Parts: sequence; structure tokens; C-alpha cells
Amino acid sequence: MVDGQYDILFEPLRIGPVTAPNRFVMMPYATGHSHLMPNGAIGIREMRAEGGWGIIGMQLSEIDPTSDLSGLPYERLWDDGDVKVHAKSVERIHSHGALASIELAHTGIRSRGIENGYPVMGPSSLPTLKPDMPYSAKAMDKSDIKRLRASFRAAIGRAKRAGYDMAYVYASHDASILWHFLSPHYNHRTDEYGGSFENRLRLLREVLEEAQEEAAGEMAVALRFAVHEASGPKRITCDGEGRDVVEALADLPDLWDVNISGWSADSQTARYARQGYQEEFTSFVKKVTDKPVLGVGRFTSPDTMVSQIKRGVLDMIGAARASIADPFLPNKIREGRIEDIRECIGCNVCVSVELSGVQVRCTQNPTMSEEWRRGWHPETVPPAETAENILIVGGGPAGLEAALTLARAGHEVTVADKAAEMGGRSLRESTIKGLASWGRVRDYRLYQLQQMGNVHLYADSELDADAVAEFGADHILLATGSRWLRDGRGRSNLAPIQGFEDNALTPDDVLNGTEFPGPVVIYDDDHYYMANALAVDLATKGHEVHIVTPMAALAGWMGNTLEQSRMLGELLAASVKMYPNATATGWQDGALSVIRSDTGEGLPDIAAITLISVTNRVPETGLSDALAAQGIKHTAIGDAEVPGTIQAAVYSGHRHARELLGTEPEDRIFKRERPTLFL
Ligand code: ADP
Ligand code: SF4
Repeated sequence: MVDGQYDILFEPLRIGPVTAPNRFVMMPYATGHSHLMPNGAIGIREMRAEGGWGIIGMQLSEIDPTSDLSGLPYERLWDDGDVKVHAKSVERIHSHGALASIELAHTGIRSRGIENGYPVMGPSSLPTLKPDMPYSAKAMDKSDIKRLRASFRAAIGRAKRAGYDMAYVYASHDASILWHFLSPHYNHRTDEYGGSFENRLRLLREVLEEAQEEAAGEMAVALRFAVHEASGPKRITCDGEGRDVVEALADLPDLWDVNISGWSADSQTARYARQGYQEEFTSFVKKVTDKPVLGVGRFTSPDTMVSQIKRGVLDMIGAARASIADPFLPNKIREGRIEDIRECIGCNVCVSVELSGVQVRCTQNPTMSEEWRRGWHPETVPPAETAENILIVGGGPAGLEAALTLARAGHEVTVADKAAEMGGRSLRESTIKGLASWGRVRDYRLYQLQQMGNVHLYADSELDADAVAEFGADHILLATGSRWLRDGRGRSNLAPIQGFEDNALTPDDVLNGTEFPGPVVIYDDDHYYMANALAVDLATKGHEVHIVTPMAALAGWMGNTLEQSRMLGELLAASVKMYPNATATGWQDGALSVIRSDTGEGLPDIAAITLISVTNRVPETGLSDALAAQGIKHTAIGDAEVPGTIQAAVYSGHRHARELLGTEPEDRIFKRERPTLFL
């Protein structure tokens, strides 16, 4: 690192009436903590303030009950009763020298109107933006518009009273009433709020002007605006009305926070986009406005961040995922500890969890969402009272994470893995096309472990029960992973499928380098990335590939990582033949027999030479059973305890390590958010 190379990232920046201490912004991302979980949410934000982020964003906060994302875990600033909690959050953020911002939103036709019982409101009479839900939006009349403007103004006033340094007017992601009024796709009005560009812009302009009036120079007002629709209706583009909006409102907000819409385009995974992928859409903004510009793009490399600022693309670097994966990223850059950055792998497990209504989890950072309730710090663990000898068998995500956590506490840690290289599945799966970044799970941990004197790493070292016994460790953790089933038992079908056990290959075989002839049929009863990524990989290598799933659509879980439609597009582009809604009943003489999953009706056989079964995994229990037979105490962790995602394995490794340290509650009950009882 050259002296001063990253200094520009630490230059303060004036934003209207406030000054950000540096260029790092923790975006107002969804944390999976609703307004009912303020303690956990404050824990997340405070940890990032401690880690050096200059501005800490409060997630999308509804301004009143007509913005109703029923069932999704968002924030509220409806009335003065909500101010106290926000003020506490602001106070904690300020205590670390960071600024606090809040994203004030009305979600318009993205709302659902179920929980609060008021009609969803839109510019026109339209179905809500969830076609599979039988709800519609009311076309707002003049009194609704007046009320909405008053709601925004009042929310700005409350944000100010809560002590926020900056409030956002939110007009992004196809999820804001202001965006819905702007878009000719949704706005079919014939009054002064519809028709011409200036008319459709009117509401956004009015709300922004009133926000500035209300903020009265005591709080900055930012506009979060998607300058380009990369998905969805594609009516607002960076060379069309997206640009026109920035030109029309150029100096009205104190800060432009710009991105692309919809969410799947904004939060692209590593499979589909490189770091800094929004530049081509957002780089014009700084040329149009004199106000500071903030943007995102899964930034993890300080060099890319510096380049964006030096080239005049952005003034501030925004991060959701990079701050989830490494809350201390800014401090590490400031201290020149670039190798210590726990880089986001771009998997969107965080998004998938949040979309399930649960507090966010992260593949790279097991302490995410545990800051308050379990008191886990992402960088430190309490020191062990006495250093003990710990043997970990298996150097995959679980084994390496457990090793790092225990070594940080001061224990003497040995990791043995039978493979030539440490890394387990994070290494193996990173060889599949599109999954190279999965390797970061291993790279971060291995590098950290290699720096520590109390860690001993042995690759190429298969241990049996006798070898483990002979080692004489104080504690034994088995992180020996799992194996894919060959017999067809999967997630929807729990019985073996005829002909599979003797003939099918599994992902383990493929990743271990087994050669096989095509055409290939992949049977996917797993529904995440493995079958689909393998299909594309094999097709790219020249195989004719068929992919069959009992589910109604392929890559079901990838809908939650915002990747499903991209994945289907990839399969199509690779000429993979797709068979959804098809349950396999047997494999014989190069033919997969299938029936419709919904009706049970027979479908034509699918002919191929090689069958690859991607169905379910079971723990590797051989070593555990042998140790149990000798009465040797041990604990299975990660996939060896229960097969799951890499995120689950890392989390398991971390949790088991902390349990071994004795810092976790015996009864397994950690701090909880408790509702207030008014009766
Ligand atoms: P997880 O996701 O739970 O970390 P992985 O499958 O990624 O699990 O890693 C398991 C690791 O354990 C693999 O790298 C494998 O080589 C190693 N392993 C399995 N059995 C043994 C054994 N008996 N001795 C040493 N290493 C083992
Ligand atoms: Fe990045 Fe994956 Fe963590 Fe999300 S879950 S922050 S995408 S590593």
C-alpha cells in the first residue's frame, strides 16, 4: 500500500448543513428487523458506526399507515410516539462520531394495504405491484395528495426531532409513490399531476421543496432516486427521463443518492455483475448537479472506491452488503489492513433471509444480527481463561470459522483436512462457472489463520478415529461436511427413485473430476444454485444438458436471492432444455421417466447418457460414529451436523466455537425483543 493512497476516502464532505466525517455510507438497507425489533436493529447500526462508516442509514421507514408493506420487516416513523426509539438509535450512532440518516418512504402501489386496512394508494387505479396478490390501488384524489404531502412534511419534522442529520426523500426501486407518479407506466392521470414530464414530476418536486422547508437548514435532505430502470417497465432511463429528473431538480436536494431499479438490478450478485456495476448508469449525475453524489455497486475494494471518487463518478461510497459482511471495512482501510477485509461474496443470502421476513444473515459474517441479542462482535471474542488444545477435523467453511474464533480467544488450534488444500466446499464450489467469489469464504479465514502463531494447519491429512484419539486434544470438533445423496431422495420426494443409486452421479462426483459422456440430464430436487449452476457450467463445456425439477419453476430459492430470472435466462442462453413441474419416477437404459408433479399425469421420457442427481445431502458421520464407538467425546459442526448453505456452516462453526468458550447461555435463550403489554 502506498502512503496516503486511500486518504481521499477519509476526507470530510459537506452535505447541506452537515458534514460527513468520511466518504463511507452504510446504506438504508433492509435489516430484517422490523419496527418491533429496535434493539437488534440499533445493534447493527451502532456496530457499523464503531467500524468507521461516516453515515449510518436507517432502513426504509414508512411515513404513515397508508404505506403498508404488510408482513415485511420495515421501520416506521408514523407519529411522535415513534420518535423516542429513533432518537435512541441516533444517539448510539452519534456516540461513535458518525452521522445518522433516515429513509422516509411511502411505498405507493408497492404497498399491500392488508395490515393497516387503508386502501393502497397510487397515481391511478391499478393492481398493486404483486400480481399474485388479489389487491388493487386507489387512484389518489386531490385530498389524498394533500394529505400525502402533509405526511411527508410531518415525518421530516419528526426525523429532525429524533436528531437525524439527514433525511431521505425516497424515490427508488419502483417502490415509492413519488416514483409511481413520475413513471408514465403507472401514472395515467389527466390533471396537473399527470401527462407531461413536468406534471408527473410535480409531486416529487413538491415533496422535496416542502422537506427542505421543514428541515429549515438544520438537517440535510437527500433524494434517493433510481436514474435508470434496468428491469421492470424500463420507462425511466439514464439517457431519458432519469437524466431529465436530475437536471430538473439538480440543486434541490443536498445529496443525490443514485442507483438503478428494480431491486434485483440494484443488488446484483457476483454471478451477474462485477464490482462497481452501476457506473455506466449513474456517472452522468455528477456532471449535472453541483451537489454531492452517493452511489452503490457492491464495493469491497478500496482501489475501486478511490477510483470512483478520483474519476468524478461518485463523492461517497455507499454499501449495504459490504457493510453487512464487514462492519469494520472503513477502519481496516484507514489502518492499512486491506488483507483483513472480510469481503462480501455477492451471494445475496442476506437478501433471501430478509425477504423471508427474518433478521438478516450473512455468509461471510456470522455475527450479523447477533450484535445486540447475543453480544457478538465481528472482530473480537472474549479471551479464553486457559489455552487448551483444540483439534478440528475438516477445513471447510465451518472448520475454518471455528478455528478462527477459537484461535482469536487464545486457544491452541489444529485443523486437519484430508484434501490437498483447505477450503472444503467453498473451494470446490468456487470452481463452478459463476461461483468464483465463493472462494472468499476460505481465503479470508485461511489468511487470518496463517498469521497466527497458535494455529497449525495440516492439509493432505486424513484422520481416522485412532489418529484423532492419539492426538489427545482437549476438545474435538468434527467439521467433516456432508455428501450428496445418489438415490434420488430429495426435498420434495423422501423415497429413493428406482435406478438412481446404481447409476446417478452427484455434484461430489462432478466436482471431484469424474469424467462422463453426454447428453446429461440433471435432476434438481434441491432448488438452489447447485443444479442450475452445474447445468450452465456443463453446457458451456459442450455437453447437451437437460434439467428437470419437480417444482413449478426452476431455481426456486434463487427467486429470494433476486437471481431466478437471470438464472433461467442463463440456462436458455446455454441451450439447456428445461423441464419444470416434472417428478422423476425412475432411470432405466438412458431414459428418465417423469410425471407431472401437479396432476400425476405421465410425461414423455427424457433421454440422456448420464444422470446427475442433485437432490439432498446427508452429514458425513463415519468418523463421528467411530469416535463414539471408542467413547471419545466430540462435537459435529457445520454440514457434518446438519447440511445447509455455506452461510449456515459458517454460522454453525462460529456458534459452536463460542459455546466451547463458555460465553453462550446454557439454556440457549439469548436476549429477546419483548412487546409492551398495555392491558
Ligand atoms: P462445511 O461446509 O461444514 O465446512 P465442507 O464439506 O466444506 O463442510 O468441509 C468438510 C471438509 O472436511 C472437507 O474439506 C473434507 O476434505 C474434510 N474431511 C472430511 N473427512 C475428513 C477426515 N476424516 N479427515 C480430515 N479431513 C476430512
Ligand atoms: Fe455479501 Fe452474501 Fe453476506 Fe450478503 S450474505 S453481505 S451477499 S456475503
